[in-house]
Amino acid sequence: MRLVIATSNEDKVREIDEILEGTGYKAVSMKEAGIKADIIEDGKTFEENALIKANAVHALAKSDDYVMADDSGLCIDALDGAPGIYSARFCGEDSTYPEKFARIFEMLKDVPEEKRTARFCCAIAVVRPDGTSFTVRGECEGVLHEKPAGENGFGYDPIFYVPEFGMTTAQMPPEQKNSISHRGRALRMMVEKLSKEK
Ligand code: IMP
Repeated sequence: MRLVIATSNEDKVREIDEILEGTGYKAVSMKEAGIKADIIEDGKTFEENALIKANAVHALAKSDDYVMADDSGLCIDALDGAPGIYSARFCGEDSTYPEKFARIFEMLKDVPEEKRTARFCCAIAVVRPDGTSFTVRGECEGVLHEKPAGENGFGYDPIFYVPEFGMTTAQMPPEQKNSISHRGRALRMMVEKLSKEK
């Protein structure tokens, strides 16, 4: 069974395919499935955006393909969940991450350290060949550290500190981050659900 991943990121497809090993599903990229789509993500939640993407690709996919899409971001409690679904665009599409970090800590300047809690969230939507769908959500709790640390990962990882491990997600080797990350958790939930359907 093919699972078309609604992304142009081939690394993501490879990573998901590894997690799917032994389940009977094979992850394929949109390119491999011959699908081109420019999708406007105008949902209000991670789940809505993931469903918008997965449904748009499902409409173009072969009739027996499953489709999966994800949407993720950083939610800061003291900022009412911002930047949330706007994480990539926070401070404008062209701003750098150090600029985003500076803006966040400017906004948090009156918030005491113990209240600087945050979580990474990831929603995954799967659309089945018959058009029915389900979503799962993975989360990873942490606190924000004003001084960026670590070279691994991407995005907000250098300021996302996980107290249990005493380091930021940018300081973790990839396997360690995958084992606790929002995306890793959501992917494992998705795989468990898909495995039960076979
Ligand atoms: P996407 O939905 O996976 O493309 O993620 C949207 C944005 O959320 C990214 O561009 C990052 O800014 C942020 N983000 C999502 N996941 C992570 C993560 O694991 N580490 C750091 N930033 C993340």
